[in-house]
Amino acid sequence: MSYDPTNIFAKILRGEIPCTKALETDHSLAFHDINPLAPTHVLVIPKKAYCSFDDFTTQASAEEIVDLFRTASRLAQEAGLDASGYRIISNHGEDANQEVPHFHLHVIGGRALGPMLRRDQKT
Ligand code: 5GP
Repeated sequence: MSYDPTNIFAKILRGEIPCTKALETDHSLAFHDINPLAPTHVLVIPKKAYCSFDDFTTQASAEEIVDLFRTASRLAQEAGLDASGYRIISNHGEDANQEVPHFHLHVIGGRALGPMLRRDQKT
C-alpha cells in the first residue's frame, strides 16, 4: 500500500485541519479522537508518513518507534490512567476496519472497557 498524502491525519500534521493536541515530540503527535469511545481516547501518530502498523514497524527508525511508544505511555500516565488501566489499539488493514491510512495507536481509558472483542463475534 502506498501512502496517501490526502488522508486526514496527514492534513492534521500539515496544519490544514485542526486537532486538540495532547502531546508532541520530535517524532510523534498525540491528539484527542474526534469521536471518543471513552473519557480518554487519544491517537498517537508518527510525524513521518507510514500507512499502517506493519509499514511503521518495518520502515521507521528505532528512535521513531521508541518515541511513539514512550509518547503513548507518557500520555497514559499524564491522563492518570496507569493505576486504573487503559487499552492500546492499532487497527491494521481491512479486517481490522482501519479507517485512516496513517499509522496510529488509540490510547483508550477512563472507564471499564470490557472484553477486548465481543465473544458473540468471534467467528
Ligand atoms: P482507525 O479506524 O483508522 O483505527 O481509527 C481512526 C480514528 O480517527 C477514529 O477513531 C476516528 O474517530 C478518528 N478520526 C477520524 N477523523 C478525525 C479527525 O478529523 N480528527 C480527529 N481528531 N480524529 C479523527
